[in-house]
Amino acid sequence: MTAISRGRKKVAGVGRHVTVVGVLFSFAVVVAVVTIMVLTALGRVAEKSNVLDDERSRETMSGALKTFEAQLGATLNDYAAWDDAATNVYAADGMGWTISNYGDMSVNSSLFDMAIVVDDDMKAIMAYRDGKPMVGALDDFFSPALGTLFNKAKIAGPQDIPEATGFVATKSGIAMVGAALVRKKSGVLDVPPGKHRYLIFARHLNASKISELGTIYVIDGLQLVAADRAAAFSVGISDARGTSLGKLIWVSRAPGDIGYGEVRPMVVQAIGLVGLFFVVLLIIGWLTGQRLKAEEVNAREEAHRDRLSGLLNRDGLGVAVDGFVSEAAQTQRNVLILYLDLDGFKEVNDAYGHGTGDQLIRAVAAGLQVLIPSDAVLARIGGDEFAIVFLSDSEQAVALQLSEQILDFLAEPLEIGRRVVVIGASIGIAMSARGAVDREELVRRADLAMYKAKEAGRARMTLYDPAMDTDRAERNALELDLRMAIEGGDLTIAYQPLIDAATHAMTGVEALVRWNRPGHGPISPEVFIPVAETSGLIEALGLFVLRKACETAKLWPELRISVNVSPGQFRNPAFADYVRYVLKQTEVEAKRVTLEVTEGYMIQNPQRTRQAIERLKALGVKVALDDFGSGFSSIGYLRQFGFDRIKIDRSLVMDILESDRQREMLQATVALARSLDIPVTAEGIETEQQAIAVRLFGCDTLQGYFFGRPMPADQITQRVMEARASMASTRRTSAA
Ligand code: C2E
Ligand code: CA
Ligand code: CA
Repeated sequence: MTAISRGRKKVAGVGRHVTVVGVLFSFAVVVAVVTIMVLTALGRVAEKSNVLDDERSRETMSGALKTFEAQLGATLNDYAAWDDAATNVYAADGMGWTISNYGDMSVNSSLFDMAIVVDDDMKAIMAYRDGKPMVGALDDFFSPALGTLFNKAKIAGPQDIPEATGFVATKSGIAMVGAALVRKKSGVLDVPPGKHRYLIFARHLNASKISELGTIYVIDGLQLVAADRAAAFSVGISDARGTSLGKLIWVSRAPGDIGYGEVRPMVVQAIGLVGLFFVVLLIIGWLTGQRLKAEEVNAREEAHRDRLSGLLNRDGLGVAVDGFVSEAAQTQRNVLILYLDLDGFKEVNDAYGHGTGDQLIRAVAAGLQVLIPSDAVLARIGGDEFAIVFLSDSEQAVALQLSEQILDFLAEPLEIGRRVVVIGASIGIAMSARGAVDREELVRRADLAMYKAKEAGRARMTLYDPAMDTDRAERNALELDLRMAIEGGDLTIAYQPLIDAATHAMTGVEALVRWNRPGHGPISPEVFIPVAETSGLIEALGLFVLRKACETAKLWPELRISVNVSPGQFRNPAFADYVRYVLKQTEVEAKRVTLEVTEGYMIQNPQRTRQAIERLKALGVKVALDDFGSGFSSIGYLRQFGFDRIKIDRSLVMDILESDRQREMLQATVALARSLDIPVTAEGIETEQQAIAVRLFGCDTLQGYFFGRPMPADQITQRVMEARASMASTRRTSAA
């Protein structure tokens, strides 16, 4: 992966991080809010429960005091409404009984601590406190409320409750006091009023009694205080006269608070657990998302990969170059790109099959991978095209050095399975200095430089040069002019004689297109035919030549006519139909016409070539292999295509007189063709000696400046006339 895509991943990672942090944050907020709500609710419950408990305490306390009073009342009733008492208390010698049954009882009793017997005037007859006789008057010890209680008991009728009870202040504090008439159990008393005796019990609300109450009724901190003391929780104590004596106060137990205190950690824990659960869910979700994202990234990467080589493909390269360009702009470095086209790959593919071709691609990919800088990106951008991109601080030097290494590497024979193949490469180099040239333009420049390298010959590297664009511009202008020339019929045709090797008689002509470009003069077909081929103009141009040549050939019925056909035309399945149409229109016999094709296309596409040749031959025209010996020719191909003729390239003929090797090559080639029964034309004959030599080797037709340069039709007509005349004179002579 490139630094760029790594960088991009990092940015995406940060983004993902931000969202996760965001989600976690909002989640934490939700958990906090829920916690606060639950705790607030619990707080309310606790408060409520505190209030309820306080109310209960108050009620309990009042109840406790009533019970305290009722207890004293009941005890008093037991002791006062007693048959023995009714006898002994009223008896003259009853003091002993009274003391032992009442006075002595006041000690160690939880029910009363004072026992007093009074007469109708509330004068004490016996007064005991804590088991001992009391000193001093009752009025001194008790507050006047005692009198109120006494009177209540005194005036109580038989229907009324005979006891009167209530709190009374004493010198020792506050006491629950009760007064009742001493009588028989049945309530009957046969003692007249005025002689009545009354029993008075008192029970002091002392510290031990108070703490006992607190324990029994579960009230904390219970204590007796002055009436005016402020307290949150209290029950007032007043005597029978309504005088406030004091109050009992206590401390709230706040059971809600206790409960709340106990429950709170549990609640927090529970919410914590729920939170943890959701965090786990969130993490699982996030991980799943991550995985899906990774799969998506994988799929995207797949789309940017070439299956055969495992390298990036053209799209992948585009992304990488974009990344490099923007990084270069930031870091002030240079992006260098190498476009590499394998030479001879198609030949290997055709000769040994696609399996070998695929292996070759993989082998080259593996080799390149080793040669390129570690942070460079290698891509396969076409059948046999590769690209290498990298960042560099230097200018082209690194790229040139790398190219050299690659060319050296590819110059070595490669072993593919059991075969050894030799290929090469053409390399174009372009640079985006500090990212100033964008991807599209950079790639275009590298591509252009690569084509220039190819044009210049194989196994080369070429640096992009703005002049190449000027070339391109010139080429575009040329194309435009050529189009106009074809449409305006400004192309002409020159005819070059084809000579019988034995008789040196002209047997045919080859039609060669000519263009006098306005403002430029004559342009070689070697310049404008390639332009026509790459711009789609070749079909119109080819048809024009074929038609014109055939029309002209009508003037010379004794001559054959040869017309050059470009691979571009040949490839078109409709080409045979065009030819038939032109032949019919111009009324030229098919057998007089030879179509010359070059071998390059044959090798690239043997199947279609065979079909095309068969179709043309079915029309009756002849098909010749042009420029034989200039390229990768293998005579083995010739047989399967069924060519009617071979034209030996001028380059093979040129040096036959000077070079033994050249001569032997030509000889062998002609011999091979002859052995296949294919007649041979020698091109480029410039001297008589060459003509003699090639004839000796077996060429039956000769062509070259020695016999005549390409010339206008009327010059051919002239020659035809001369030939006819000489023929006639010969006939006349022989007749004579
Ligand atoms: P070619 O088909 O091999 O045509 C022969 C070329 O060799 C012609 O060049 C001709 O002028 C040149 N030539 C002939 N004899 C000699 C000689 O003794 N010495 C030297 N030095 N040259 C000789 P030209 O006319 O410039 O054509 C170049 C090529 O352009 C042709 O090569 C052919 O491939 C292509 N061409 C020409 N006309 C057409 C056409 O109408 N259609 C197509 N498709 N290609 C054409
Ligand atoms: Ca030719
Ligand atoms: Ca030729």
